[in-house]
Amino acid sequence: MIRVNNLTKRFDDVSVLRDISLSVEPGEFIALLGPSGSGKTTLLRIIAGLEFQDEGEVLVDGRDVSGLSVRDRQVGFVFQHYALFRHMTVAQNVGFGLSVRKRNRPPKREIEARAQELLRLVQLDGLGKRYPSQLSGGQRQRVALARALAIEPKLLLLDEPFGALDAKVRKDLRRWLRDLHRQMGLTSIFVTHDQEEALELADRVVVMDHGVIEQIGTPEEIYMEPATPFVSHFVGETN
Ligand code: ADP
Repeated sequence: MIRVNNLTKRFDDVSVLRDISLSVEPGEFIALLGPSGSGKTTLLRIIAGLEFQDEGEVLVDGRDVSGLSVRDRQVGFVFQHYALFRHMTVAQNVGFGLSVRKRNRPPKREIEARAQELLRLVQLDGLGKRYPSQLSGGQRQRVALARALAIEPKLLLLDEPFGALDAKVRKDLRRWLRDLHRQMGLTSIFVTHDQEEALELADRVVVMDHGVIEQIGTPEEIYMEPATPFVSHFVGETN
């Protein structure tokens, strides 16, 4: 479904991604795992179309999407710092992506109905009229997720979506997210620096360090057969 070929990215002459290649199959739940500054967010932003590579290509369903805007790529994303709109109700936030569509914009009533449906899906039934400030952190993140899903994305990109939450809420939400991913038949890529989270949730883990992919494998492979001393050390920190 997605192929990234020989991607490089520099900021001010500093290479933050170096010759990155990977492919993601439909329905996979992929973790980008690595320490802070390893290039995970930049890779995710390039796949989303929020940032552009210097070299290499991103193919979605075999098509080079380099020239396509975020909207045309049909990706849903939940970034830790991509906050909800404070002046909009929860339901308006969820419907936002549909209400600003240039083409095929559904009628208002349909958008409202869709927002209700999505709020049920993320278990926030009945909270549509509230404002984000009236919700807990975990509830807000679920609204952000409902907003991302509203456009019926082929691909869901998540950047440390639950990073700011406390451990218990985080654990509950990530299991729930995994179930939702399966239930909706999504293809998802999530960024984390938490080894446990990556190994517990992902179908495959992409371990990154200093802009380079150290290893791609199932959690078992990463854990049992680390390909490099870095992977061994980084993943071993879970023990
Ligand atoms: P991670 O998500 O693994 O923490 P990032 O992709 O955010 O890593 O960052 C990788 C490197 O690129 C870091 O050294 C960061 O400082 C740098 N970087 C990221 N975005 C920018 C930017 N817009 N301008 C300059 N440097 C950046």
